[in-house]
Amino acid sequence: MRAAEESVVVGLDVGGTSNNATVLDMRGRFLVDRLVESPSRVREGPEVAVAAAVRAIHDILALTDTPMTAVAAVGLDTPGPASANGVISSKGATNFLHPGWAGFDFRGAVESQLGVPVSYLNDGNAAALYAHYAHYGDAAERYSSVSAIVGTGLGGGVVHAGRVVTGAAGMAGELGHVHIPMAGLLADGQPVPACNCGFSADAESIASLTAIEKNLLPYWLTQFPGHDLAGMDLAKAAKLVRAYGEAGDPLALKVFEQQAAALGRLFTIAANVLDPSAYFVGGGVVEAAPHFRRWFLEQVRANTVLRDEQVAAAVFALVPDLDMAGARGAAVAARDAVLSTPRP
Ligand SMILES: [Zn+2]
Repeated sequence: MRAAEESVVVGLDVGGTSNNATVLDMRGRFLVDRLVESPSRVREGPEVAVAAAVRAIHDILALTDTPMTAVAAVGLDTPGPASANGVISSKGATNFLHPGWAGFDFRGAVESQLGVPVSYLNDGNAAALYAHYAHYGDAAERYSSVSAIVGTGLGGGVVHAGRVVTGAAGMAGELGHVHIPMAGLLADGQPVPACNCGFSADAESIASLTAIEKNLLPYWLTQFPGHDLAGMDLAKAAKLVRAYGEAGDPLALKVFEQQAAALGRLFTIAANVLDPSAYFVGGGVVEAAPHFRRWFLEQVRANTVLRDEQVAAAVFALVPDLDMAGARGAAVAARDAVLSTPRP
């Protein structure tokens, strides 16, 4: 075994289709500066996917010329729902439909195959931790932050004093399913939006790609008769709205104004619960044209109601390196676990 200073941790983000791996040394430097992906094979069930995860870890070590003996720990993250300890929900999960996944201890299985400690976060929490770490670096422990990541759903997480708040059952930081006030957000006659989780009027019911398809486009198309996107399959049209927004299309801007308003209302709740130092926004909007993402972030800020004492110190920023954020956040968590474990 090498000296602790020379050891590393591996971060592995297991998604619905791809694994993404990275390596972080104990001084906090990432040894991989790009996205390194391989098939996750989660649709083929746990046995195949665990083998694919272990292979992805060995491959990234080979790529960075790092022996397995230098690995002090591994950080794993997956889409939820899963327990705080990486057991996939017994009711299954969107990305883990194979029946073998129900109640499967993914973290434990990877740990027993590798023989090193494996820590676990859900992907939203991992990305939130990376956003926090990327912004605050060595000062991460002195700050707290809330991240909202707009994708198919609305993910994210809460970081307090540099650590992810996971909660008693691993369900903390589920920002998408926090109810937000709809008065003044919805247009006259616009139906109260429903979420896949069974709630209505929660943040994800407005601020997600699913919300554009199911709630926002169906309404706004009635207000812009003859729009290019009318008559198109809604799932397909929803993915095109961002490009229309970048070009200043009035319908698309209505959609994004409502999404930004929803995030602002969500952050207003966070401001009163946690009073964080930073509010991070991630998702497809981060990949949009610079003028558009600046406008969007400004809209989010304008809709976040802070007290005078909070305004000056509050940071609003976009989540960087979004494709790599899950793996990097998982690695940061693993490194924190190693550094906080007393050495024998
Ligand atoms: Zn919901």
